[in-house]
Amino acid sequence: MNKIKSFFSTFLLIELLKGMALTGRYMFARKITVQFPEERTPMSPRFRGLHAQRRYPNGEERCIACKLCEAACPALAITIESAQREDGTRRTTRYDIDLTKCIFCGYCEEACPVDAIVETRVFDYHGEKRGDLYYTKDMLLAVGDKHEAQIARDRAADAKYR
Ligand code: SF4
Ligand code: SF4
Repeated sequence: MNKIKSFFSTFLLIELLKGMALTGRYMFARKITVQFPEERTPMSPRFRGLHAQRRYPNGEERCIACKLCEAACPALAITIESAQREDGTRRTTRYDIDLTKCIFCGYCEEACPVDAIVETRVFDYHGEKRGDLYYTKDMLLAVGDKHEAQIARDRAADAKYR
């Protein structure tokens, strides 16, 4: 019985017609393709992308070298060295994140008491060799400077849910 059904199904091109019907249905459906990078899909303010170090509006870096982020990082991706400045405050002399180790868990930004280390919406970055994904303090501050407006908006939106 199955063989007869299969014969007629093949003979009448049933599978082909089913496939064409499916194609026809999607031909007139609303298109969901976006023209990246000019167009972007909506994104959560909690998106965990490329890291950034932030500054206060007066240009002073936020990070106080408490090393909580380094201790919280399960991937041991953060390396910090610090020193006391002439004004008595402590600041990092080295703040590196190895993004090849990072698992983008967000623990570092959760641990930070001054909102210094954050994860941005930036996901379209790349490295052509391993060292390219080793982000130093200067690189992280540059990301923060570039995206501060968006970061501040996201932090304010996120605060509403806490
Ligand atoms: S996101 Fe997670 S794994 Fe990556 S640096 Fe922060 S704490 Fe470490
Ligand atoms: S980024 Fe935040 S948690 Fe990490 S050392 Fe600086 S102040 Fe501390």
